Amino acid sequence: MTEKRSLYENVTLQVDKAAKMMSLDSDIHQILSKPTNEIVVNFPVKLADGRIEMFTGYRIQHNNALGPYKGGLRFHPSVNRDEVKALAAWMTWKTAIANLPYGGAKGGIQFDPKSYSAEDLERITRRFTYALGENIGPEYDIPAPDVNTNAQIMAWIVDTFVSMQAPHQRQANFHVVTGKPIESGGSVGRDKATGQGVVFLIERWAEDNHFDLSSSTFFVQGFGNVGSWAARLMKGHGAKLLAVEDASGAIFNRMGFDPDALLAYSLQHGGIASYPGAEQIDHQTFLATQADIFIPAALESQLTDETAPLLNVRLVAEGANGPTTPEGDAVLFEAGIDLLPDVLCNAGGVIVSYFEWLQNKRAEFWDLEEVDSKLHKMLMSAYLRVYKAAAEFDCDWRTAAYIVALRRLRMVYKNRGIFP
Ligand code: NAD
Repeated sequence: MTEKRSLYENVTLQVDKAAKMMSLDSDIHQILSKPTNEIVVNFPVKLADGRIEMFTGYRIQHNNALGPYKGGLRFHPSVNRDEVKALAAWMTWKTAIANLPYGGAKGGIQFDPKSYSAEDLERITRRFTYALGENIGPEYDIPAPDVNTNAQIMAWIVDTFVSMQAPHQRQANFHVVTGKPIESGGSVGRDKATGQGVVFLIERWAEDNHFDLSSSTFFVQGFGNVGSWAARLMKGHGAKLLAVEDASGAIFNRMGFDPDALLAYSLQHGGIASYPGAEQIDHQTFLATQADIFIPAALESQLTDETAPLLNVRLVAEGANGPTTPEGDAVLFEAGIDLLPDVLCNAGGVIVSYFEWLQNKRAEFWDLEEVDSKLHKMLMSAYLRVYKAAAEFDCDWRTAAYIVALRRLRMVYKNRGIFP
């Protein structure tokens, strides 16, 4: 049974494995093993009913050797310093693998947004932005959506942040966050970008493995931004969605679900569990679904040494961050299940965030075709880098992905040295 380890300890184990394999210099390994800044803000919010409530928010900046810190904001009761540290580190590896000019960061507020009205959510978001102050900025640290945050939340952050700038500086600060609504400086294609990236990579995996997606089956954990987009884009290939799990429960249909209809239902009812005509199943039965592909797109540490053996699939394509523990990885590897690791597989979101940031800086507006084709090109290059590293080191894909990231960071530290 898995020894209870923190999420950051899981990331550290993953990095250590890759560092050892590639003989990473111990100095650089040491630098990368700790986040640069850990910002914790406790702030009061006056809620709509006049009550004042205290909240705890985090922004952890892991590394900025390659460019400004970049990473999402999560609103969830489980948000804590350790979780955010791990998520921030994953952003450093992800941006490095994708060859983006960014470092890694992550943040969030520990609370359940579902228990608050839209008006209170706006108050909490704006007060958090104020509390973060100059710890974020368009050329310094650029947040984006993550679990339970969306384009609307980004719009409130932008509005608050630019209101805190001198009037002549306001227009120059709109790229302080990405994932904004299109009308407020967002990019077309950002909403679907992470799910689109997952599906581009599944297509490539299918091509390399002579696998026919049109007659394939898959199942998805999490039916929010990433899970629902991935499922809807898989439908375009004719793939059949057999089972879905979200926070409300898990459902199965041997004939397959229509992801568009399921999404409409989920948005209306706040979850998928009572979808008409579906068989309700428990978590273990859900994980044991016999299918070709499993897309985890919810929270971390879902596939462990206890749960990974339940899987009955050919490929795990990680839409979520950190869904597999090191022990879960070992089970997948032993079982010969292919893996598209999170730091590669869900990089579509941060790549299109980068496109949004570039469009804001250049006062440009790209169309969907341009966004999608550039995303495809960048992801395919990242895929090839990981593929080659896996062949060179004869290792699993997660370790190969980390090797790609660590090599890039090593070059930067070698070039620039350490000041003073
Ligand atoms: P979201 O809030 O839109 O959706 C989260 C989904 O997970 C919801 O359907 C929710 O019901 C489900 N969920 C929550 N707890 C669950 C549980 N215990 N069991 C099963 N399902 C559960 O969030 P999202 O943006 O889709 O993010 C999902 C994952 O993808 C996260 O790991 C996130 O870090 C990662 N990710 C997101 C992006 C992005 O662009 N949004 C980019 C890269 C990675």
